[in-house]
Amino acid sequence: MAKKQFKAESKRLLDLMIHSIYSNREIFLREILSNASDAIDKLCYRGLTDREVGLSRDDFYIEILPDREARTITVRDNGIGMDRQSLEENLGTIASSGSLQFKKEIAGQEGADDTDIIGQFGVGFYSAFIVSDKVTVITRPYGSDVAYKWVSSGADGYTITECARDTAGTDVIMHLKEDTEDDKYSEFLEEYRLRSLVKKYSDYIRWPIKMMVTKS
Ligand code: ADP
Ligand code: MG
Repeated sequence: MAKKQFKAESKRLLDLMIHSIYSNREIFLREILSNASDAIDKLCYRGLTDREVGLSRDDFYIEILPDREARTITVRDNGIGMDRQSLEENLGTIASSGSLQFKKEIAGQEGADDTDIIGQFGVGFYSAFIVSDKVTVITRPYGSDVAYKWVSSGADGYTITECARDTAGTDVIMHLKEDTEDDKYSEFLEEYRLRSLVKKYSDYIRWPIKMMVTKS
């Protein structure tokens, strides 16, 4: 299957982001959780006027599933999901909203310390690649029976295929990079580390977060 390429600008931005955020790489979780929260907001709002949604406020939640064996962190929401077009538009173009703002800020602050600047605002979905060598998004848009699987290993592009998902919502599956002498990523698979990050970012998240941990 042919890989689709990110827009040229996106590649450069992705590169910049991955290489400049060092001390602050944990913010990827804030970004992915806030997207999950936004997606639930949208479906919940829709539910106010559309009885078909069939979910009430108490039914919405986000799950975090670390899997040490597979070396993945999955963030799952039962929000609005994405159709094929939104997948292309939102995840195929790095310079969408939050990320665009990031780019503007960086451009305007030449010589400034990147790590200080970056932590201050949303850098968006692509921050998943700070800690991941592969990201898989499985999403089913509300109102559709079809789900899609978006897979990317970073700047080399992405693929989209049809797949199955029980209900509307999105799974973002982040496959963590291997640890090296200088860079450790495995810490993000630890329950206590994830819990403390969730606490730290709770302002960005308006829905309950459940942590599913498999005992080993
Ligand atoms: P922002 O959140 O500022 O719009 P992001 O890069 O974080 O920028 O996300 C880009 C877009 O991708 C979002 O606006 C949204 O449309 C879509 N998106 C990302 N994550 C999800 C999700 N879990 N569910 C539904 N849509 C999502
Ligand atoms: Mg976002």
